[in-house]
Amino acid sequence: MRTFGCTCGEILYYDNTQCETCGSDVGYCPMCRQVVALRHHELGGYLCSNATCGATLTKCYNYDVEHVCNHCIATPAGQAPRENLCNCCRYNHTIPALDKEGNREKWQRLEIAKRRVFYQLDLLGLPRGNEADGFPLPLSFEFKETPDPSTTPGTTDMLDDHEVVMTGHHNGKITINIHEADPVERERLRVAFNETNRSLIGHFRHELAHYYWDLLIKDKQEDTCRTIFGDHNNPSYSDALERYYQQGPPDDWALNYASAYASMHPWEDFAETFTTYLEMVGTLDTARNMNLGGPGVYTDFDAMIAAYQKLGSAINEMNRTMGLKDLLSRPLVPPVVEKMRYIHQLIRNCQIPMQGTPSFS
Ligand SMILES: [Zn+2]
Ligand SMILES: [Zn+2]
Ligand SMILES: [Zn+2]
Ligand SMILES: [Zn+2]
Repeated sequence: MRTFGCTCGEILYYDNTQCETCGSDVGYCPMCRQVVALRHHELGGYLCSNATCGATLTKCYNYDVEHVCNHCIATPAGQAPRENLCNCCRYNHTIPALDKEGNREKWQRLEIAKRRVFYQLDLLGLPRGNEADGFPLPLSFEFKETPDPSTTPGTTDMLDDHEVVMTGHHNGKITINIHEADPVERERLRVAFNETNRSLIGHFRHELAHYYWDLLIKDKQEDTCRTIFGDHNNPSYSDALERYYQQGPPDDWALNYASAYASMHPWEDFAETFTTYLEMVGTLDTARNMNLGGPGVYTDFDAMIAAYQKLGSAINEMNRTMGLKDLLSRPLVPPVVEKMRYIHQLIRNCQIPMQGTPSFS
């Protein structure tokens, strides 16, 4: 991630909706891919204040009306946009029930995490599209909650399997249980599952990893993937899941996997490794933009690994100084590095050129 600049000289951050110094409305311009001050346009809407861009913009409906977004849509001057949702919100299939207290705040946290991951996918040139685009595997999100039988009298016995909302991915649709957007509940789950980290951005990365397995590997390069992660058809996913919850991970999981959960099944190994790769790339990208060093060119995978380990141990010490959790909870062991190398190559081979923006080269 990088920071941006307001016309008044103040620093703007990716999540900002207003400049704290001059009070300008700010938003993300999809044309120059920057967070910019928004100037009112005489024909309605806004103008991007980046002098080299100047695009005419409309605020995303979820920015203007729902206050959970800060992205804009590029629109020809004086014309209505074709869609009223930005290139992040247009993937939403189901949003939380907004008449319930606290749900708007949860939704906002989910959107903040989703936008950050999308920013990274765009940086990497990973393709995505929804049903309206006619995309081969349309991507969509549903943010749902398990009905609470204690607040809805008489519905206890209706709480069958279909009503328990599980965070997961199925055939392009990513479901997130919105309880994950409650920090207290998420921390409770982190401790219960003995995880080193549990975050919304991590959930999006993990579920998108499953999405990219279906998009890029399924029926295309399953054999190659099998040689790296093991046979995803044997044992079956359901057998592996049952075994994992009965027996737990192998004692020596840390010698071979990015996380304990990665040892459950080759699909989870892929997803956790993909997540670790995105964490590395995001950390290195931010470090470079914040002038903290690191490789300037992201083609040399081994240089990325070395820089990430070095940066990780430095930031771990910073975090310990502040009483926070480690950034990099354990060193990347050679088998994990080799699986990440496969992910690196997979992403490089499917990169799509982005319009008018610096690509991640
Ligand atoms: Zn300002
Ligand atoms: Zn712009
Ligand atoms: Zn939006
Ligand atoms: Zn998973």
